Amino acid sequence: METITPLVIPRSAHPISRSMVSPNALRVLYRLRDQGFIAYLVGGCVRDLLLGREPKDFDVVTDATPGQLKRLFRNCRLVGRRFRLAHIHFQDELIEVATFRALQAEDDAAEKAEAGEKSSPSSDAEPAPRSPRHLKSDEGMVLRDNVFGNPREDALRRDFTVNALFYNIADFSLIDYAGGMADLEAGVIRTIGDPLVRFTEDPVRMLRAVRFAAMLGLDVEQDTWQAILDLAPTINRATPPRLFEEMLKLFLLGEGEKSYQMLRRTGLFAPLFPRFNVWLDTETDGFPHTRVSQALDRVDALVQQGETVVPPLFLALMFGEYLEESAAAFRQGGTPPQEALNQAVAEWLGELAPTVLVPNRVGMQVRDILSSQQRFGKMPGKRPQSFLGRPGFPTALAYLRLQAEMGNGGQDIWSWWDRYSRENVVDRPSVDTATHEGAPPAGKRRRRRRRKPRTSAPAPR
Ligand code: ATP
Ligand code: MG
Repeated sequence: METITPLVIPRSAHPISRSMVSPNALRVLYRLRDQGFIAYLVGGCVRDLLLGREPKDFDVVTDATPGQLKRLFRNCRLVGRRFRLAHIHFQDELIEVATFRALQAEDDAAEKAEAGEKSSPSSDAEPAPRSPRHLKSDEGMVLRDNVFGNPREDALRRDFTVNALFYNIADFSLIDYAGGMADLEAGVIRTIGDPLVRFTEDPVRMLRAVRFAAMLGLDVEQDTWQAILDLAPTINRATPPRLFEEMLKLFLLGEGEKSYQMLRRTGLFAPLFPRFNVWLDTETDGFPHTRVSQALDRVDALVQQGETVVPPLFLALMFGEYLEESAAAFRQGGTPPQEALNQAVAEWLGELAPTVLVPNRVGMQVRDILSSQQRFGKMPGKRPQSFLGRPGFPTALAYLRLQAEMGNGGQDIWSWWDRYSRENVVDRPSVDTATHEGAPPAGKRRRRRRRKPRTSAPAPR
């Protein structure tokens, strides 16, 4: 294998100091180093520290194998079927430690033929006894990717140059195999290697490019941008559940409006939301649909103030007008209001399912937010205590407030219900599932595992 010497930036020539690194991540790094292993910080945390931003989480790479990590750390859980990772659990933080991974083989056609040619993404389920170490589909998408490698290979298999920098705990230097330092200084997002190949291997990287450009204020490098324009229609080769997760990251991390504009400009938006996209390009009663941008601006403002906007609230804001129009059409056909809304939501979930799979539970929360808006019109109406006690009440009220703030009416109704709910405090389940469950990926530090309640008998299947 060719050897390429990386650029090594000594501690004196870069701004990252240990005081910027989470103490738990430092503990993990020191422990590995003291046991004779290589240990680097990598990925978003190094990039963000260099940009003067606070990292969401700290990821570590090492030459220790998952088995060695398990023996080294008591608080370690191995996760991942496709590639084993170690999760080191601390009280309020999770540090992810990966073993260096190898590059995807450039030409694995021979290996594929030997394995009997698999071409659907489901083929990464369980490795066959003589499975190839890497497997790509006929279209070049990576299906399996599970061998250990060295630091250079690990760096070069990453998506963008700015995401491939290592911070070495041995001497506090930075190690740059891919030209990430120069790109960070120039403010550009560039794939490592040929963008057409890298986006074909994993189309989600196109969404990541948009997200990093929007979030970090970077420009997408010209060839990388052109490849996105060329390959945007292939985005649907990623699975619908993964695209839902990526969508949340694009829209709920503080630069959703900018991400939305870039998605529309690159042609990534249309294949993700085909019917909604057509609707956005048409007018209703001679007015263009501008509420989406407005809603995303509002969401961005909240997130930038440190508030968490939960997925159902965001989806209700983004698709509310679209769903209301669709429900109105059902009503005109004679369907009663609640049933019309149910049908509009069901149709919407069905139309998105092949591209961006909104979990049914979340879809039902969106429906509840919108149907509560009709209920708010009655002040207080019948059995107000039971309305106040519904788990989704705070989210529905937040939706009403945001609509009022966006100039869509309802200010008086919101004020009334806001006061009424303060004066009539009810016992609501302490976790408001509509506001907290499935919260956006705010980083591993805040992620906690909830135990399922024990049941005396196993649930029927
Ligand atoms: P964020 O701030 O959103 O966490 P990040 O760069 O840390 O940004 P992660 O999704 O946490 O993104 O991934 C960590 C690292 O793993 C990335 O920096 C990148 O090096 C690598 N990586 C993640 N996803 C991919 C991918 N689809 N293809 C190649 N490399 C990836
Ligand atoms: Mg990260």
